[in-house]
Amino acid sequence: MPELPEVETIARDLRGLVTGARIAGARSDWPSTLRSHEPAAFAAAISGREIVGVGRRGKQLLVWLGPAAPVTPVAAPIPVAPSPASAPAARARRAALAPVTPDAAPIPVAPEGPVGEASLAPAGVAAAPVPATDEAAVLTIHLKMTGQIFVVEAGAPQDRHVHLVLSLADGRELRFRDMRKFGRIGLYRRDEETGEPVRGEAPGVLAAGAEPLSDDFTARRLHALLARRHGRLKTLLLNQDFLAGVGNIYADEALWLARLHPLRDASTLRPDHVVRLYGALREVLAEAVERRGSSVDDYTAPEGDGSMQEYLRVYQRAGEPCLRCGRPIRRIVVGGRSTHFCSWCQRLPGGAAGRGTPGGAAGRGTPGGTARRGTADRTHRGPRWTELDGGGALGRTRSEEERVRRVAATRKAAAARRAAARAGVVADPTAGSAADPTAAGSADATVRGSA
Ligand SMILES: [Zn+2]
Repeated sequence: MPELPEVETIARDLRGLVTGARIAGARSDWPSTLRSHEPAAFAAAISGREIVGVGRRGKQLLVWLGPAAPVTPVAAPIPVAPSPASAPAARARRAALAPVTPDAAPIPVAPEGPVGEASLAPAGVAAAPVPATDEAAVLTIHLKMTGQIFVVEAGAPQDRHVHLVLSLADGRELRFRDMRKFGRIGLYRRDEETGEPVRGEAPGVLAAGAEPLSDDFTARRLHALLARRHGRLKTLLLNQDFLAGVGNIYADEALWLARLHPLRDASTLRPDHVVRLYGALREVLAEAVERRGSSVDDYTAPEGDGSMQEYLRVYQRAGEPCLRCGRPIRRIVVGGRSTHFCSWCQRLPGGAAGRGTPGGAAGRGTPGGTARRGTADRTHRGPRWTELDGGGALGRTRSEEERVRRVAATRKAAAARRAAARAGVVADPTAGSAADPTAAGSADATVRGSA
């Protein structure tokens, strides 16, 4: 799932591509993709607005929209699967489009103010107030697991996974493609000071946690936030109301860099640990932004894939040598999420409580090195969480071999899917099934919608 660096990369790409463009219309074939309004109300409320900027809050993309001005609707219907010779046709269509003028025929707009749930909201979702035509608005886009955004000529090939299209007055389209359909898009009145939806009008949309790359996120602030917390570090880092934007990949990477065990209780951190964790989070996230994020699954950005996946130190490297000590990276499952760490470099503190979950030899006995509930007592023999099998001989267990093979196959299939998505064609079905994270048995596939 795209995390802070991936969403930041998409925001930066989009900013360059669509700032200043005017939205001429919207179409959607999957109503639940829209979280704020039903498709017709959404299309009416967004049409005519200029994209004035693109930002990010946590893992949520924010597309800032100005007041609506009338636009000339695109007259001819756009073919969904045009012939290969469509690019010149699209250019011609773009050239033929009438310029946006204030006196063009206005398109119908939704009534101003709050609207009734029954008429405009998707089933089970309370409709947000429709931004009035003269009000600033913000489009929130949460990509969830497989959301992708492309900006293409209107005639470009489009496959069946594109669930929302914003047609731009310049003849291009901003397409939201989402194989698994967990992505959610909302349109809200914008608080021009914060750039976020007007307080109280988009409940549950934005994370409450601190922005780890913001200027006001300091080691002191992290210390203050941690002082009120208990619980495992890994779980805490994934909590979007604690830190916004950190997900499974960068939590593992930051904990490895900080040499802190993922199961360590946050309340046991000393001040120097907090400083290490702070530095590690900032370093890992900044590096990932610079490398355009990690394209390990379906994540890709409008201007292309990221490369951070080639520089990850622990994520999906179970069985491979730790880049710091050479001992094998371990994988356990914490809170339903794959967790990768070095059991030599990242130790639980000594002491009677909270130690002795499987690692090393104990972990090797369970499928995939998975920590199981109830094994804590049986593995209590060791003095601390460390390699119990002679310092961590290199080489993988059979389940680790199997996992490495599956990870490689999954990544390869995902790369093929991303390329196909960019070309607008549905990926080869065999590649699709091989790349299905559930088929690969990855715990990441069981991500809950809230993450
Ligand atoms: Zn190590």
